[in-house]
Amino acid sequence: MAHSDCLFCKIIAGEVPSTKVYEDDQVYAFRDIHPKAKVHVLIVPKVHYASVDELAKKAPLTLSHMVEVAQKIATDEADGSYRLIFNTGKNAGQSVFHVHAHVLTGEVLPE
Ligand code: 5GP
Ligand code: ZN
Repeated sequence: MAHSDCLFCKIIAGEVPSTKVYEDDQVYAFRDIHPKAKVHVLIVPKVHYASVDELAKKAPLTLSHMVEVAQKIATDEADGSYRLIFNTGKNAGQSVFHVHAHVLTGEVLPE
């Protein structure tokens, strides 16, 4: 269900503009507004879950699909290498509480 106060629900609904990279019935992927690598894409499930933990428990197949989509983006836009990050919880840097995978690629990433 879409949450009216959730930025990423608004992006999925097209109410907030974004640069789309990929979309299917389960997920939406778009470019991060403040890229931390040459390619920095966010993948979000279309159904609102707050965290990767909630997603893993309630919709594990959507979580595994997000990994497949990350691989596809990294293959389309780079050499297939990528870093996949789920910041989980405020103290780990999660600022938007609609689960999102950060896909970083397009360059040699620092350790
Ligand atoms: P978090 O810090 O929750 O792991 O990641 C949130 C990400 O969303 C950040 O990397 C931030 O740059 C990105 N972001 C925040 N607001 C917007 C926006 O309006 N549009 C896009 N494309 N990215 C956003
Ligand atoms: Zn949401």
